[in-house]
Amino acid sequence: MITEDITRRIVDAVDTGFERQLATTSDFVAIPSTRGAEGPCQDMFGDLLRTRGYEVDDWHIDLDDLKDMRGFGPVEHDFSKARSVVGTYRPATSAGRSLILQGHCDVVPAGPLDMWETPPFSPVIKDGRMYGRGACDMKSGTIGALYALDAIKAAGLKPTARIHVQSVIEEESTGVGALSTLQRGYRADACFIPEPTSGKMVRSQVGVIWFRLKVRGFPAHVFEAGVGANAIQASYHLIHALEKLEADWNERAKSDRHFKTLTHPINFNPGIIKGGDWASSVPAWCDVDCRIAILPGWSVKDCQNEILACVAAASRDHRFLSNNPPVVEWSGFLSEGYELIDAAAPEAAFGRAFKAVHGGEVQDLVFTALTDTRFYGLDYNIPSLCFGATGAAMHGFNEYVELDSLRQTTKTMALFIAEWCGVEKI
Ligand SMILES: [Zn+2]
Repeated sequence: MITEDITRRIVDAVDTGFERQLATTSDFVAIPSTRGAEGPCQDMFGDLLRTRGYEVDDWHIDLDDLKDMRGFGPVEHDFSKARSVVGTYRPATSAGRSLILQGHCDVVPAGPLDMWETPPFSPVIKDGRMYGRGACDMKSGTIGALYALDAIKAAGLKPTARIHVQSVIEEESTGVGALSTLQRGYRADACFIPEPTSGKMVRSQVGVIWFRLKVRGFPAHVFEAGVGANAIQASYHLIHALEKLEADWNERAKSDRHFKTLTHPINFNPGIIKGGDWASSVPAWCDVDCRIAILPGWSVKDCQNEILACVAAASRDHRFLSNNPPVVEWSGFLSEGYELIDAAAPEAAFGRAFKAVHGGEVQDLVFTALTDTRFYGLDYNIPSLCFGATGAAMHGFNEYVELDSLRQTTKTMALFIAEWCGVEKI
């Protein structure tokens, strides 16, 4: 346990460095690092690590190395520039427990720019908030981890355990970035991911399956083109059938010990729809990209089979689809849910850090989205905590992070690192 004096010095150091932290966060948010374009963010993060004296590993990810690993999701786009960046701190004295600190630098697309009050990749600080795509999810967290470590140093201290600071890609579509760090061999006694969780600790999180409905073929009775006789309308039939599957799964969720507290934990989302070529032509094709959640303990394979069975049953009683059976493609996430268990030691260290900053005990969050924690917890027995700042409009317009909460979570993170890894005088 760290002393009150050390606690105060670290907390003060976070305050002292906070303006610089915001400037770095702003530079990081200004990089439009949507999927496939994360390179400049990885360059910047590598430079931030090198400047601070970390040993930096920056490598191209080879999907062939990952494809047989548990939790791998198929990647369809150009992956030739995909990289992971890990900075390693090696202690002079090895006394504490090792730690992985991880953030993802990919962001989801901004959507129509005219729906933003200020441009998504020109971060603005206003009314105690930083606005910008990724300001909340989760570039402020990733940079916060770096500044938490800076604060320990500025307080005249150095950790007494190995620390890996990792910037990964594709958290928003497959998680292959996180998977690549495990394939590369990075391990620790615990993992900490500062996703924006409104100052709560993720206790349990959903898994996610991505799939694409591909409806193809000419209407069987082209002169009877009406409801259900074209590919776009036929896709609606499948969407309605999948909404029934969503309702079934929400019923099933009532027996989950954490998710039973939520009214609608399983969300099915048709997220992209494309189809047809001409307003006056009956469309012969339609693609619908979908996302659905599953709960911890549910098998991805079984859930995939339920999706296939749902689509097949809905197709059998439909004029267009019975003649033109749709294809289901797996188009990204094939992720299990994750529940934080067997993590008493890191939770105790975190509890002390939280109490010193916020007072009281951290509340649990039952999370209807996923995080990269699952790979560490499920597959490698590395207890993986997820905790971070408050904000809003992640994946929406005018995304922001609240700066007070960012400051508090940075302090909490810094104290957790000191508690978990141990510290000694420089
Ligand atoms: Zn995120």
